[in-house]
Parts: sequence; structure tokens; C-alpha cells
Amino acid sequence: MRADAVGQHVADVAVVGLGAIGSSAAWRLAARGLDVVGIEQHEPGHPWGGSHGRTRLFRVACLEHPGLVPIARRARELWRELEAASGEQLLLETGGIMIGQPGSRIIEGTLAAAAAHGLPVERLDADELARRLPGHARLDPGDVGLWDPEAGVLRPEAAIVAAVDAARAAGATIRTGERVLAIEPDASGVTVHLAGGDVRARRAVVAAGPWLPQLVPGLAITPHRVVMSWFRAREGGDASIERIPLFIRSVPGHDAWIWGHGALAGDLAKVGPEFDGPFEADDPDAIDREIHAGETEGIRDLVAATFPDLEPEPAELTTCIMAHTPDGQFVVGPTDASDRVVVAGGCSGHSFKHASALGELAAQLAVDEPPFTEIGFLDPRR
Ligand SMILES: Cc1cc2nc3c(=O)[nH]c(=O)nc-3n(C[C@H](O)[C@H](O)[C@H](O)COP(=O)(O)OP(=O)(O)OC[C@H]3O[C@@H](n4cnc5c(N)ncnc54)[C@H](O)[C@@H]3O)c2cc1C
Repeated sequence: MRADAVGQHVADVAVVGLGAIGSSAAWRLAARGLDVVGIEQHEPGHPWGGSHGRTRLFRVACLEHPGLVPIARRARELWRELEAASGEQLLLETGGIMIGQPGSRIIEGTLAAAAAHGLPVERLDADELARRLPGHARLDPGDVGLWDPEAGVLRPEAAIVAAVDAARAAGATIRTGERVLAIEPDASGVTVHLAGGDVRARRAVVAAGPWLPQLVPGLAITPHRVVMSWFRAREGGDASIERIPLFIRSVPGHDAWIWGHGALAGDLAKVGPEFDGPFEADDPDAIDREIHAGETEGIRDLVAATFPDLEPEPAELTTCIMAHTPDGQFVVGPTDASDRVVVAGGCSGHSFKHASALGELAAQLAVDEPPFTEIGFLDPRR
């Protein structure tokens, strides 16, 4: 154990926020034999940030950027390691379909990722789509589908708990129910201020999700409240994931994409709208958790237009917080203010699948290892 001149314990790395990314960063750092302190204001797997709601979509052919493909692949390996360590199934590989017009962002982005990395993505024309995916209505005759056989569904709460447990098992000190008030870097390290006393570390990884801009002022991240919705089968309908595999698709006549998947055993189907900016900044500590009349009309109309098997009135709703960056890519790396602080976040609605590997990248940067893949497009100073 390291101590400073006045005898205070100095950890190698303090990890602030043990949500999707921070829990994995703490695990990957502790797995390297480092002295790690992980600090979380709630309990791991809680419903107050950006990582609850039972499922998240996993895709390898990432339409958001071809550079995400190696991150998704490394993430899959790490999710599998966490499954082995925890005995819990975290990632169910089901395959998934991206549907849109040729030239649309859904189709061109997926094709670009597949082409850059030689992914086994299969192209389906509208007839083939209708034959193979009878659960989808309102396909435009010009639509094409891209089947990503490596896509699947992750269980976010269980994955976070598994990563925190793995960090603890590797020797990390985990402090929950404690809120970090400020992070102060200096020439020799970082002081993490907590109500119950400061933590001193040589470096900090700050993975505070929607709270990141509070702790690292100047980061271009906008926290924004969103609503998640689940649907049950109509009488005689089939809402299962076999009938409605994981999807992202456009809906003709509607100016929106939708995403989701059919029901896993014993659960409901999940459908959400693509969250398109500009986004109003919401205070993550004062999110309105009530769902108001009129808020679900949009998704109800989209489901009615698209899924004949689903009852369009949502069966379950909850609120969640996104953390958007201006270009929709994450932030992973040091900021201008100090290279003692590595930030990791800026989910922009698509980071959960990558979170185990984003934790690994944050760990690598915090110990000056070269990152396992090129991440210039995620540099917070871009
Ligand atoms: C509705 C919705 C749908 C999504 N769908 C998908 C999807 O299908 N696929 C996908 O890949 N991604 C998806 N995402 C994105 C993904 O779920 C989130 O990006 C990701 O989980 C965020 O991870 P994070 O670690 O940055 O933040 P979080 O998981 O929110 O973690 C931040 C943690 O920091 C803690 N914290 C903050 N401030 C402090 C403090 N001062 N002191 C102590 N602790 C603190 C918080 O309590 C929290 O636990 C979706 C997001 C939303 C909101």
C-alpha cells in the first residue's frame, strides 16, 4: 500500500462512478494488480442513471462508426469473461436486423462498418424481409434489411453487478452510497473529495455518465431525460424475440427510427424511438420520473404502424437519462485540464454494448498502456 508524505493512503487509480463503464474500468484496473478505489453514489445496478431497463441492444456492425467494431468485439470477449466469473448469462446472441432505404444512415452506416471489418452481414431485399420477418409491418417496397448475425441482447443491471463483483474479487476497494463532490488534479496526483473524507490517487477514471459535466466542467455532454417503453402481445399475437428479433428500422411516413426487440422469456417486447437532437439539458439530480399524458403518443403510433402482433398501448414505462455528445460519439481519454484524469462516457444512446471494452480502454489510458484499438474519434479534446 502506497502512502504520501503525511501518511495518507494513495491508491493507484480512483474510479468515480460504477455504472456501465466505471464498473468495468475498476475491474480491468484491479485485474492488472493495481490498487483501485471505486466510488459509486448509489448501489451497482441502480435505476437512476443511464443503464437500467433490463436489456440493451448489442451489435457488432455498428452503424455509428466503423471504429466501434473492434471495441464491440473486445467488449463481447469481456462480457463472456464476466459471465464465466459470475455464472450469469449477460449476452444472448440472437442476431439482429437493420432496416431502411438504401442510402439511409442505418443502411450505409451498417454497410460501412461491415465492409471495413469484413463482417458477415447479410443483405435482404424487401420480399426476403417480408418472408423472413413477418412480425414487421409497413415495410417500404424499396427497403433493404441487413442481418447482423453477431447482434444480441445484453442484461445491463446484471452486467454491472458482475463487473463490480469482479473488481472486488480482484482486490478493488468498492465504496457505494458515497457521492464524489469534486475531483482535483495536481502535479503528483488527484484528490477525490467526498463528504466522509478525501481519497487520494495517482490517477482518476471519471465514468459518471450523465453527471460527468458536473465533475469535469467544460465537457460537451448534455444529460437528457428519455422514456423507455415495453409492449405486450395482442390477443393471438406473438411478441417473442423469435418473431421480432432485435431491430433498428425506419418507418415509412414517420420521421423517426425505432429500435427494440421482441420479448425474452417471461418479459415484454421493448420498442423505443431514436433519440434525435437537439437535446435540452436536464439536471440528472432532478429528473422528472413521472410519465405525463401525451408523452407516449408518438411511440404508440409507431408501434401501431409497425408491429401487428403488439398491443400499441405501452404495458410498462420508465424514465432513463442519456448523456449526449455533439457528434454522437463517446468520450474516452484525458481532458485539456489534466492528464491525471481520464474521462469515459458520453453514451449518446449506444455505449452499453461497448461498456466492458470502454472500461478496458479507460484502464489502459490510466496506466499509460497503448489502447488496444485506434480511438482518436473518441478523444474528449476532438
Ligand atoms: C433509453 C436508453 C436506451 C439505450 N439503449 C442502448 C442500447 O440498446 N445499446 C447500447 O449499447 N447502449 C444503449 N444505451 C446507452 C447505455 O445504456 C448507456 O450509454 C450506458 O449504460 C451509460 O453508461 P455510463 O457508464 O456512461 O453511465 P451510467 O451507467 O449512468 O453510470 C454512471 C454512474 O456514475 C455514478 N455517479 C455519477 N456521479 C457520481 C458522483 N458524483 N459520485 C459517485 N457516483 C457518481 C452514477 O450513480 C452512475 O452509477 C441506451 C441508453 C438509454 C438511456
